Amino acid sequence: MIQSEQQRRAYLEALGIDVWLPKEQADPEEQCVGSAPDTGGLDWSELRSSVAACTRCALHESRTQTVFGVGDPDSDWMIIGEAPGAEEDRRGEPFVGRAGKLLDEMLRAVGQARDSVFIANILKCRPPNNRDPKAEESSACRDYLERQIELVQPKIILAVGRVAAQLLLDTDSPVGRLRGSRHQLGSTPLVVTYHPAYLLRSPSQKRKAWDDLCLAKHIAADASL
Ligand code: URA
Repeated sequence: MIQSEQQRRAYLEALGIDVWLPKEQADPEEQCVGSAPDTGGLDWSELRSSVAACTRCALHESRTQTVFGVGDPDSDWMIIGEAPGAEEDRRGEPFVGRAGKLLDEMLRAVGQARDSVFIANILKCRPPNNRDPKAEESSACRDYLERQIELVQPKIILAVGRVAAQLLLDTDSPVGRLRGSRHQLGSTPLVVTYHPAYLLRSPSQKRKAWDDLCLAKHIAADASL
């Protein structure tokens, strides 16, 4: 599909206007199963509209709303979590529950306010009962996140939790092995740390998360030199 046509559809869908398609393209199987959305070249507001209108996987049927992400789209820092939970689905914003409050505190401890970073998730829609993302869901959503990373151009990505870390780095290694060192996502440095929901259950691990955030801060500072 040429980009202008794809953008036109995203706009129309975001406005709630039915888009008429030739029958073979309108096949719901084709729209829902695994085919990645074409986000190449979309600007920030086009991307936001495209996410808001997304029907690429079955999660669109159960969501209250999409959760695009929040914060400064020009930030040096990008935080990537797993998927919206119940509260995030209700409010349309990532990390707003108890775990979100802890994430805010962790960021503040390294000099970053919630609105000075950009926070997003692997999935833009809530999986029912907060189950792990299915492979077809994360691959359908992947290029939304990739376009967000391209547009933000962060100096550091902080992957929080097992699901985000493993999907971004395409590995099965546990967080305990991935944390504490510098990884790369393409040309962008990436640091893994524990999910704040895990830290709420295991506060003794907070010291390690602090070390991870300090590592991320040093990498971002070096990249600014
Ligand atoms: N957990 C996540 O990984 N992301 C959210 O937005 C909320 C909880």
